[in-house]
Amino acid sequence: MSDTIFSKIVRREIPADIVYEDDEVLGFRDLNPQAPVHVLFIPKQSLATLNDATPEQATLLGNLLLAAANYAKQEGFAEQGYRTVINCNEDGGQTVFHIHVHLLAGRRLHWPPG
Ligand code: C5P
Repeated sequence: MSDTIFSKIVRREIPADIVYEDDEVLGFRDLNPQAPVHVLFIPKQSLATLNDATPEQATLLGNLLLAAANYAKQEGFAEQGYRTVINCNEDGGQTVFHIHVHLLAGRRLHWPPG
């Protein structure tokens, strides 16, 4: 099991601006926001990359996305729109090897991403 800075956030060993929590998911503001809203949704259990996900974790993956969507609805920007992103490994731009869904909103996002 990989232990990353995000595991430390789950264990409350380092601070984070937590905006969402349930039994299996934690959501906190990205320290280096790329949009006015930039929240990371992570599973409390460690899972390094999307490549490592098993069929048994399908519900967990879905719940990460639903947590992001529900947060967007709750905060009132779901209709205006937002983006969810999972970076995977080097070419995907992943730097923290504890899977996370980026939720970006609050400005018009460009496509394709850089
Ligand atoms: O997808 P990627 O692995 O690159 O994303 C990691 C994200 O975690 C970055 O957006 C970075 O700003 C964020 N981060 C954070 N708090 C930390 C370490 C990284 O919000 N303590």
